[in-house]
Amino acid sequence: MQNKVIGYIGLGTMGSAMAGHLLSSGFPLIVWNRTAIKAQALIKKGAIWAESPAVLAAQCDVVFINVSDTKDVLEVIFGENGVAQGIRPGTILIDNSTIAPTGSREIADKLSKIGVRCLDAPVSGGDIGARNATLTIMVGGDEATLEEAKPYLEVLGKKITHVGGHGAGQIAKAANQIMVAAQMVAEAELMIFAQKAGADPAKVVEAINAGAAQCWTLDVKAPKLLNGEREPGFKATLQAKDMNIAVETARAYHMNLPATALHTQLYNGMVAIGDGDLDNSAIISMIEVMNGEKLKSKESN
Ligand code: NAP
Repeated sequence: MQNKVIGYIGLGTMGSAMAGHLLSSGFPLIVWNRTAIKAQALIKKGAIWAESPAVLAAQCDVVFINVSDTKDVLEVIFGENGVAQGIRPGTILIDNSTIAPTGSREIADKLSKIGVRCLDAPVSGGDIGARNATLTIMVGGDEATLEEAKPYLEVLGKKITHVGGHGAGQIAKAANQIMVAAQMVAEAELMIFAQKAGADPAKVVEAINAGAAQCWTLDVKAPKLLNGEREPGFKATLQAKDMNIAVETARAYHMNLPATALHTQLYNGMVAIGDGDLDNSAIISMIEVMNGEKLKSKESN
């Protein structure tokens, strides 16, 4: 297995950490990133640079992609010097990006015609999960292909679930983001609510995170907000992108998701006012504005 050559395209917050785990597990690794400088740390550790996604794909048995949005994945695969121009029949293409389920189905359909097997494999667990290799991986595609790909995915995550056919991994991820947004907005509201009503939000979080309200968001994000940290992590612009995927998918099936629609508006608003590069937990800024109350951080106390 270790002699299979792996390619990793997209070395942002998530991709650089995930590619690093594949390299340190002993897989020969070829990398490409639009901004070449971001590959330097991995190259120093032994990864090989490819001049384009096509050049990378031509040398690999398994190609990972981890870029921002649907249009970006399509560009990396089908654009000039894209993966499709180099990839060999039999290769497994694993997309770790969060994109529209319809995009994953289109990619799988087109690449199947040249003998390439695709898995949509978006992840959850944040930048911390990527760094600690504790991601949850939601997979859509053929089960036998997933079995073949498991040794690589097991290097990246602790929980790998075959959800269904092509696009099903992305549906699971959109469902995940429905929950994450609800948690982020509720966290923001409860902290501003507690503070403005006269209780210490840090104490409130400490108390309720041991009860029925316990969640990952209160574990991981509340301490950051209380420390005055609003840097990503997971950019609000990506959370907004994911919310719009959920809303568009719901619309395609004539569904009503009223809370998700509201949370989508809040994240779209955050991007519109120029806060898209902050962490998704910084949605608290929208709640702060609506209440004329800024969360006191340890620094400001
Ligand atoms: P990021 O740090 O912003 O990195 C984005 C990556 O995509 C960069 O390598 C960027 O290249 C590349 N890219 C974007 N558009 C491109 C294009 N048109 N052509 C080529 N490359 C392009 O984002 P991230 O946090 O790693 O997120 C990556 C994916 O994982 C997203 O789909 C996101 O929703 C998902 N995700 C993120 C998290 C998280 O906590 N961060 C958690 C779960 C899932 P440059 O370096 O040149 O800009």
